[in-house]
Amino acid sequence: MTDHIADLKAFLDASPVNFLAVDELRRRLDAAGFSELRAADAWTLRPGHKRYVCVNGSALMAFVVGDAPAAAGFRIIAAHSDSPCFRVKPRCEMLTEGGVVRLNTEVYGGPILYTWFDRPLSLAGRAVLRGADALHPECRTVRFDKPMLVIPHLAIHFNRAVNEGNPLSRQKDMLPVLGCVDDPARVPGMLRHMVAAKLDVDPYDVLDYDLSLYTVEGASVVGLNGEYITSGRLDDLSMVHAALTALLASEGSGATRVMAIFDNEETGSGTKQGAASPVLDHTLRRICAALGGSDEDYYRAVADSFMVSADNAHGFHPNYAEKYDPVNHPILGGGPVIKINANCKYMTDADSAAVFAAVCDDADVPVQYFVNHSDVAGGSTLGNILTSQIPLRGVDMGAAVWAMHSARETASTLDHKLTIRAFTRFYDC
Ligand code: ZN
Repeated sequence: MTDHIADLKAFLDASPVNFLAVDELRRRLDAAGFSELRAADAWTLRPGHKRYVCVNGSALMAFVVGDAPAAAGFRIIAAHSDSPCFRVKPRCEMLTEGGVVRLNTEVYGGPILYTWFDRPLSLAGRAVLRGADALHPECRTVRFDKPMLVIPHLAIHFNRAVNEGNPLSRQKDMLPVLGCVDDPARVPGMLRHMVAAKLDVDPYDVLDYDLSLYTVEGASVVGLNGEYITSGRLDDLSMVHAALTALLASEGSGATRVMAIFDNEETGSGTKQGAASPVLDHTLRRICAALGGSDEDYYRAVADSFMVSADNAHGFHPNYAEKYDPVNHPILGGGPVIKINANCKYMTDADSAAVFAAVCDDADVPVQYFVNHSDVAGGSTLGNILTSQIPLRGVDMGAAVWAMHSARETASTLDHKLTIRAFTRFYDC
């Protein structure tokens, strides 16, 4: 039997940033008999076809075609590929005294800044290379596997009050050191040359890149009995992994099974590869049309569909009981979490919560509920944004984690197995 936790660790370690996560999804989908469709090509589909389409190299929609969608609808699990991090700015090399080179970076999303100090870091993302013409460059993922950078914290002797709270400047305090050079003339364009060497291409052909910092230390199981997993990017790659594992394990019931992985959730989803774009709507419409369905068939299919918007939830932290709702605070290890918000930041309502709870019950999986402490504003996620594009029934849920948006988050190993079981059951509904 597959060890889902070992497989999750491998997936997390193979996915240091969004582009690499999508690369790893493609690799795994290809190995499972899926093939890639290009958005610019005409699609021909038949029931049983396993296909995926990528958007920008950082979002991916995979599906197993069911019977005519108008008859059976879609079973969708949505999650996101991106996590808070630091993105390298253009002309990033900053030479300082003694030949020390720092990289100029910009914060992506909402990381807990001080969790990034004093860790071995590296860079990953994509490079854009000269192609056949100006409109069609070649994109390739790039990953510097070795630890290369560090953001050194100021010594406590220069700030004795550091443990009483220490505001950080994103521009001053958070710049990583790349190394030390003898020849200052080598510094401008240094990263471009490193990318070229890594990809074995001429530096002249490296037109641009999207590179981000990532923490090099791999995922690790902790706890007396292996109760927990700690890793960067559990939000939301643990849900991506659970969705993929379920998609590959499920047998289906006639509905078209869809795994929709979006980028840029951490910055509000407002990009062409984000959940606020029409990319999921287009994908579902095209599946319907490729099977000979009309617009009317599409609307009927949507009406008979269900979506699980899977994004991690705040687990009850034993040091901070006062931050949580007095009753609805999920425990790590207590099962998948249904997320509810009276002001509709989550798409969950009583109807969709009941559906998901029933699916979990069928799979012999316990469920928990998360509602914000009424004096605390919570976050948002994919579900409500997607339903402003497509009027889908659905639920917002996730696994409980500690330290959301830390460079290392912690989740429950049991919850991950339970989530996979619940998702597999959902795809078979
Ligand atoms: Zn998330």
